[in-house]
Amino acid sequence: MKPTFTELLFASFKYEDYNPKHTKVLILNAMFFITIVINLLFMLINLFITQTYTLFFVNLFMFLLICYALYLLREEQKYTLASIIGILTLFTVFILVTLIKHGDKYSLIWTYFFVPYAIITMGAKRGFVISLIFISIILAICYTGINIWDEGRWDSETLFRISLAHFIMLYVIYAIQNSNEKANEKIEALREKEKIQLQLLEKLSITDTLTGLYNRRFFEEIFPRQIKRAHNQKLLLTFFTLDLDYFKQYNDTYGHQQGDLVLVQIADILKEVFNKSDDYTFRMGGEEFSGLFLDHDIDYIHAMIARIATTLKERNIEHKGNPKESVLTCSIGVYVQKPDSTLNHQEIYRLADEAMYQAKNNGRDQIVYV
Ligand code: GH3
Ligand code: MG
Ligand code: MG
Repeated sequence: MKPTFTELLFASFKYEDYNPKHTKVLILNAMFFITIVINLLFMLINLFITQTYTLFFVNLFMFLLICYALYLLREEQKYTLASIIGILTLFTVFILVTLIKHGDKYSLIWTYFFVPYAIITMGAKRGFVISLIFISIILAICYTGINIWDEGRWDSETLFRISLAHFIMLYVIYAIQNSNEKANEKIEALREKEKIQLQLLEKLSITDTLTGLYNRRFFEEIFPRQIKRAHNQKLLLTFFTLDLDYFKQYNDTYGHQQGDLVLVQIADILKEVFNKSDDYTFRMGGEEFSGLFLDHDIDYIHAMIARIATTLKERNIEHKGNPKESVLTCSIGVYVQKPDSTLNHQEIYRLADEAMYQAKNNGRDQIVYV
């Protein structure tokens, strides 16, 4: 967060994203900027007009430290260190000025700036405590000036009015900051909740509810991306479609609900076989599944595809309606695309599907490669 000069001048920041931390960084930038300008002005006044050199050096000290704090804030992104240096500098300098100009009522005006500075940059609670310490020291110094300062006109009533003004200021700034912080906490919590809900919604929108595999929608999204990746990384892209054999009969024999359970089992097999983070398996609809993965080794690819059928056989899911065998089998069509091939995902899908139908025509329970 590096506000520009114009943004600082008008305190009008172009936020990219709302974040309470950014607001604090921006305000601290603005405060450092103002402090530097004011000190520069006073250095000139003290050096050339009033020729009070002690104050000139105090201003120089403050100027240099705040410049350093501003550098830490803008160039090194050290917000906490910058704000601590800022607060300690103001703390020291305001007390120093009050002591140096002991008896000069005008110097006290600047001490009012400490409270907003401390509370806004350090937060309501910590800022309140450090401001309270600061005000107590200032008022103690003021107490020593009763009947002395301002040609004796500085009396207990003046001190009382000054004290009251300080404490009211402290309370008002604290109340503003504290309510802001509470509101920000609430906003943050809501945003966090929204983010989680959005992630959940995104996940749901690409997931098949019955099996937990990716759905057709995500297939359309990820497939073109994986084609590009295979092309860039010079990998073989393998896509297969899988259709269960005689599944209508399965439902007729065991019921639709049992059929659903079998679909979940098939999904589990696919998840088990294709378990790498960049393997994608889909339920395309009904009892049709598909999968997409990248690799460079054709033997590995053959082994992976073969594992689907063998794992299904191992599960030994009874299917009395299967005229060939009495277990559930599937037909698989596979297309392996070379990195330099230019087919798009619809064409690849069509080819794999055709191979799958070929497997059906050849008597089912087999794998056909394009
Ligand atoms: P084939 O070997 O030629 O594939 O024969 P099949 O009976 O499997 O024919 P097809 O692939 O056309 O099967 C579609 C059947 O799959 C129709 C329906 O009974 C069943 N089916 C589709 N979606 C679902 C589902 O969500 N749950 C269940 N239980 N069955 C489904
Ligand atoms: Mg089908
Ligand atoms: Mg079928």
